[in-house]
Amino acid sequence: MNMTASGQLTLSKDSTLSMNSLPLIPQKLLTPGPLTTSKRVRQAAGVDWGSWDSDFRQLTKRVLNGLLTIAAATGVACVPMQGSGTFAVEAAVRTFVPRSGGLVVGVNGAYGERMAKLAKLSGFRVKVVESAWNEPIDPNRLAALLGVEYTHVGIIHCETSTGLLNPLPELAETIHAAGGRLIVDAMSTFGALDVLADHPGVEAVIAASGKCLEGLPGMGFVLARTQSLEAAIGRCDSLSLDLADQHAYLERTGQWRFTPPTHVVAALAQALADYHAEGGRTARLTKYQENSKALALAAAELGLASYLPAELQAPIIHTFYAPGSERWDFSRFYNLVKAQGFILYPGKLTKEETFRVGCIGQVTPETMRAAIAAIGQAFTELGIDPKLRM
Ligand SMILES: *Cc1c(COP(=O)(O)O)cnc(C)c1O
Repeated sequence: MNMTASGQLTLSKDSTLSMNSLPLIPQKLLTPGPLTTSKRVRQAAGVDWGSWDSDFRQLTKRVLNGLLTIAAATGVACVPMQGSGTFAVEAAVRTFVPRSGGLVVGVNGAYGERMAKLAKLSGFRVKVVESAWNEPIDPNRLAALLGVEYTHVGIIHCETSTGLLNPLPELAETIHAAGGRLIVDAMSTFGALDVLADHPGVEAVIAASGKCLEGLPGMGFVLARTQSLEAAIGRCDSLSLDLADQHAYLERTGQWRFTPPTHVVAALAQALADYHAEGGRTARLTKYQENSKALALAAAELGLASYLPAELQAPIIHTFYAPGSERWDFSRFYNLVKAQGFILYPGKLTKEETFRVGCIGQVTPETMRAAIAAIGQAFTELGIDPKLRM
């Protein structure tokens, strides 16, 4: 990137970005956040709001109420947190797990690993229960560890690193019956799937602006019982990540404690208005299921192999094996697909070569079929038969 004499930012010529910073071809982000958003949502970010102003306080209130409507939970509050989703996960762990207790984390993907890591770095007692990345978390293995030392359980609803859906209803039942409290990373499911925010076994549900809600990235939020938030006052040993304090301050003043991502909040207000107008959670889930089906079908027709069996697949993102060819080169493949207007996601598996295609955002079954056609074209250009197996 360069600056012109007039001070305008420009990008180098070999980039697909033009001098005024707009992509030359409209790109579809097949990534699970940031994702493809609507023009209306992006335009809603084009207004400057004063964070202290009463209009912005009302906007915050509208957004939090909109999020609570989606959760359809009683006795629960929604607390926003500045930053990407991980900041909200870290805030939830540090606000709700008492120092006398500890966290069992069910790990079957990179986001589970991340939750365990952030809890360990925060100095908590942490026990990791690992499963293969193509197997769901077994609730009983987590429940067996609960007691005075381990009071909480952290799980990932949809492991976005593969697309696997963990069995949240069974986890909530089993953990509750064993006397534990569940911290649910529902980042890539909130808005599409039921996240059980007021289940008696659930302590906190975490999500963010830029995933299934189709807002812009930059704001996380946590759903938790008002009672739990009040009980957690003074517990968190981080100033900025203290959800109990953020909640108390918002209740008292209508304001965020520190500078809010005003433009992101405004875009989320628009995204939520559109979400509810389009038919709410059922409509959003149906749309993603249709995308997911079209994607799986087109990929199978091309000859790609899915990493997950269909019954474990969430309608959010799919992982495919790379064909077994010496010519496989993810970055060349990525660029060939990008040249046709689609942004893919690299695989996150450590042993097998894979790539991921998201099916959430402002995309349709037609987008999915076009993306698979572009992927097929890229394989042709690379001289790779997509049906080849390792
Ligand atoms: C996106 C996501 C997060 C948050 O990741 P950030 O990079 O902080 O946005 C956490 N958990 C899951 C399951 C996710 O999909």
